Amino acid sequence: MLIDNHNRKINYLRLAVTDRCNLRCHYCMPSEGIKFAKNKNLLSIDELKLLANTMVDQGIDKIRITGGEPFVRKDLMELLRYLSSLKGIKELSMTTNATLIGPHIHELKALGITNINLSLDAINRDTFEKITRRDQYDTVFGNLMTMIEEGFNLRINFIVLDNQNVQDVIPILKLQEHYPVSVRFLEEMPFNGGSKNFETITWNYKKILDYIKSHYPDLEKLESPKTSTSINYKIPGHTGTFGIIPSFSRTFCGSCNRLRITATGDVITCLYGKPKMNVRDILRGENPEMHLRTSIEKVIGQRAKTGFDAQREHQGVFENSMTSIGG
Ligand code: SAM
Ligand code: SF4
Repeated sequence: MLIDNHNRKINYLRLAVTDRCNLRCHYCMPSEGIKFAKNKNLLSIDELKLLANTMVDQGIDKIRITGGEPFVRKDLMELLRYLSSLKGIKELSMTTNATLIGPHIHELKALGITNINLSLDAINRDTFEKITRRDQYDTVFGNLMTMIEEGFNLRINFIVLDNQNVQDVIPILKLQEHYPVSVRFLEEMPFNGGSKNFETITWNYKKILDYIKSHYPDLEKLESPKTSTSINYKIPGHTGTFGIIPSFSRTFCGSCNRLRITATGDVITCLYGKPKMNVRDILRGENPEMHLRTSIEKVIGQRAKTGFDAQREHQGVFENSMTSIGG
């Protein structure tokens, strides 16, 4: 079992499989993209398998595959088939922009990978195209509807962006009125390749909640698991639920059970801090399993207590894009 220096059990790994993406969401990266990693520096599928297998043996029982866009990686399904066969994993989930998932929906269902977080920051076509800088609206909504019909457990992640998509907050919330999905509203974070800081971000948890309450005064707060990052609500009579993730206000650090590993092998023990080590050379060296185990235990023994403590490692702005970190 992995326990950190603040007595928090670490059982959740967020594993990025690529830093590349076929969209260019404004809040995530500049239009020209970021300086993407060289192919040789990305972990191979065999390295990802070894990494996951070792960490599951150490006590990780929940893995979320993220990116970049995980489905731009042509060999992704091979990894998913392997991970879904690992006995120690209780939950295998993915975060995706749903542009490329279409051909894989049936196999994902067969593998039992039905917990999908879908990033969708607009319900209006023009807003979608402005935010993502790409023409993928029909594909994304088509895939969303197929996954709803197939009974996937869907969470729709919507970042509330001043002057960009606020007018879509209530229309997207209506998805959960009719469908059994959870719509989750996120505070934006200043990770877009380095040009923003916290002061420019206005839609915080409270403002989002007040805005929704002004339309639905009767909403009910739901009990959420201790490790949940979202505060969840139900509107009476609606089929699904909604949540708000206070990413920036970060009220969830006390129960944080997660570790992130980027597509190039950087280990991030707190989203707001800097990478603490890299596992790529370990995975490519002698006796990788043993070295991996001891290194992971070591960094977990040195975690920052809160995101605010970790953030002091940065000078003002975050240098990385979420496409490298995986969200
Ligand atoms: N491409 C996939 C997707 O968009 O779902 C997976 C990777 S994406 C980097 C993971 C998550 O990070 C998405 O839900 C996205 O909305 C979120 N994200 C990216 N940049 C962000 C930012 N500046 N603030 C808050 N969340 C962000
Ligand atoms: Fe791509 Fe996801 Fe970043 Fe959008 S948020 S650019 S879909 S990695």
